[in-house]
Amino acid sequence: MNNSKFNSIISELGQLTDKQSRELEIALQAQDPIATILRQIESRLIEHPECPHCYSNTINRHGKINKTQRYRCKNCLKTFVATTKTPLARLRLKERWGDYFNCMLQGKPLRGSAHECGINLKTSFRWRHRFLTLPFQQKAAKLEGIIEADETFFAYSEKGSRELKRPPKKRGDKAGKRGRSSEDWVPVVTLRDRGKQTYEAVMPHVTAKKLSEELKRKLEKDSVLCTDGFKVYIKFSEDNELTHKRLNILHGVRVIEKVFHIQNVNAYHSRLKMWMQRFHGVATKYLENYLGWFRFMDDPKNCNTISLFKAQQQLNGT
Ligand SMILES: [Zn+2]
Repeated sequence: MNNSKFNSIISELGQLTDKQSRELEIALQAQDPIATILRQIESRLIEHPECPHCYSNTINRHGKINKTQRYRCKNCLKTFVATTKTPLARLRLKERWGDYFNCMLQGKPLRGSAHECGINLKTSFRWRHRFLTLPFQQKAAKLEGIIEADETFFAYSEKGSRELKRPPKKRGDKAGKRGRSSEDWVPVVTLRDRGKQTYEAVMPHVTAKKLSEELKRKLEKDSVLCTDGFKVYIKFSEDNELTHKRLNILHGVRVIEKVFHIQNVNAYHSRLKMWMQRFHGVATKYLENYLGWFRFMDDPKNCNTISLFKAQQQLNGT
């Protein structure tokens, strides 16, 4: 960019709204998320010294490894760096984390991400699953007001497992029962309130009791639950003192009293399904991780590398 163009940008900065200024600031920081986060982790250790091994507060600087400050604990004498015992610790190829995050944010497949970041497939797999577990832990703590609930189904998969729990289908075998046989499909129940708080649970067998256990203390009393009328929700609403609005979709009743419907949760499910397609089927044991990752990314304010790193740091602190 030439100087006069640059100068004209600078001269226009004064016209930015407060919101735009903040966005610009975030955009500029996001150019180097890794450095920013590492600086934050470093400075936190300096402000609140703590040995990750014995939690003693007396630590000393102890040389550098690959430009990274090393510390030694006076109490247990062990050495460590700022990222020791954090999920970032074993990701040694630090300079590639940012690229890898970007691949994940774009939903690129394992092999493509590995290729783009110059790492092998095994590392790509390990990194993905380490990062995937993060947003999984940030489900809505409380749902309130009008809450929409519905199920969606994912094909059961033992992809990537060495030992199959059930024999693989032979070519020419009948695909089994039509429809949603519990052997082939894993139900996911999603609840989403109008504040866009979202909670989802992988439930091999959806029953009122299991649903109540899963959602214990997470539903504000006197909330209104909107569903398609599946009988499990009837009992569940009674047990949890919720007003239940049953939509009879099959008979064309999609909205009751203008506000009660399940269109938000259904739209959420279609976005989720569309996004999952790019992974060409995920192993059922990792399904929750993918759901969590989608939930995190579906919230526009989370959709940048900075937020993902911040989420990670928060988890480190818990
Ligand atoms: Zn120590």
